[in-house]
Amino acid sequence: MAIERTFSIIKPDATRRNLTGKVNAVLEGAGLRVVAQKRILMTQAQAEAFYGVHRERGFFRDLVTFMTSGPVVVQVLEGENAVARNREVMGATDPSKAAPGTIRAQFAENIEANSVHGSDSAENAATEIAFFFSGIEIVG
Ligand code: GDP
Repeated sequence: MAIERTFSIIKPDATRRNLTGKVNAVLEGAGLRVVAQKRILMTQAQAEAFYGVHRERGFFRDLVTFMTSGPVVVQVLEGENAVARNREVMGATDPSKAAPGTIRAQFAENIEANSVHGSDSAENAATEIAFFFSGIEIVG
């Protein structure tokens, strides 16, 4: 299986509850390595661009408000089959439907404040990594 990279965000509901380390422990336990990481306050423009695919959805404005409501930790994760592995360990978008042991089952507050983001394809991972990181910030 090829070593792959994916993009991850620890969302404001998780940083507010001081869960960065606990989320990282689950990621690392799943075989993913944090090869880049920084804590930022996302601007409204960044959040709107990042979630542009959801612009027409009813929850778009609320999502942008939530993602800019506090610090987030943006990350690059590396490992075998990292995109799928991370989606698996994140759990379903709605925490009430997330499998036991997943990050969202353990930590998410609700369908919006669901603690983590993870790229859903290798193509989106590359785009999302490039949105927040330059090559020299990623050390595998
Ligand atoms: P993900 O790939 O599992 O993060 O899910 P999506 O790409 O479908 O949605 C992006 C993010 O929008 C989710 O992680 C949630 O934070 C938020 N979101 C998704 N669906 C809903 C919803 O029905 N209501 C609200 N308020 N937020 C949602």
